[in-house]
Amino acid sequence: MTKATKRQLALVNTMVSERDVPEDFVEHMRELYRRGLFTKDLASSFLTMLDKCNDKNSVTADQRGLYKIDNRLVRVAVDRKGKAHVRVMHRNSNGELHYSSNVKIDVRKINDSTKIDLDMAQKFGRKYGVCCVCGRTLTDAHSRAAGIGPKCIDKL
Ligand SMILES: [Zn+2]
Repeated sequence: MTKATKRQLALVNTMVSERDVPEDFVEHMRELYRRGLFTKDLASSFLTMLDKCNDKNSVTADQRGLYKIDNRLVRVAVDRKGKAHVRVMHRNSNGELHYSSNVKIDVRKINDSTKIDLDMAQKFGRKYGVCCVCGRTLTDAHSRAAGIGPKCIDKL
């Protein structure tokens, strides 16, 4: 087992500080490091994953909303601390659609020209059975017909 090089570790630290990386992913890496399991190969695959995370502070709270960028649905949401995050609708290996923080898009394309309105969000929801606002699967008949969840319609 070859341990990660100093250069790899420095690069991981830099990327974690500069990018919007999910907290549980950072914690997972820390845990492996503490247990001495942070190998060279692992570091290499983590670096590939980190490279897919969007830059931190790349969006602001006033950009909150839904966008269509390069044929992907993109959501800018604001957390309780007032920080904005970019999430991209992504089909996982089980074929389910969900919002992911590990899909990178060109954040410069988040602007008024790519923003989508309620009508477009509902069309997407009806087609794929997923609420564009929260990313949940639309389960009841009323929501599926509306193409959006009942609580989420007010958020757009
Ligand atoms: Zn919803």
